[in-house]
Amino acid sequence: MSVTGLPPYDDANIFARILRGEIPCKKVAEDAHALAFHDIHPQAPVHVLVIPKGRWVSAADFHAGAEAEAIAGFWRMVTAVAKEQGLEASGYRILSNMGQDGGQEVPHFHVHLFGGRRLGRMVPPAPAG
Ligand code: AMP
Repeated sequence: MSVTGLPPYDDANIFARILRGEIPCKKVAEDAHALAFHDIHPQAPVHVLVIPKGRWVSAADFHAGAEAEAIAGFWRMVTAVAKEQGLEASGYRILSNMGQDGGQEVPHFHVHLFGGRRLGRMVPPAPAG
């Protein structure tokens, strides 16, 4: 099934399973609102994923439906993890893919936090053809 980035939420997705403790992760931080862990296939020296604890498929439904406190808590964790990873002075990139064109693979809203090197172009050129 392709990932649309829109509900319904699939409770069998890999991040839901990590949240339920069924699959291990390399945890970086956790609080009432969010969990941060290292990406299993890092694309930069620092590549951390931050996920909210609620059942949200993508940026769209998270920001439309979550409580303001949960949204604030989530984004505070993103920037706190960036600081804790030592990225504030050198800089970093936060990115969230939504749906097919965004390249979203896991249908649980998440933000990628990249850093530790110059990250280059924000969006690669479209493939030829
Ligand atoms: P996206 O393409 O934005 O949905 O990103 C999904 C990310 O999840 C990819 O960067 C994967 O490497 C990462 N990922 C998939 N499974 C795991 C896992 N079990 N633990 C950590 N990261 C994972």
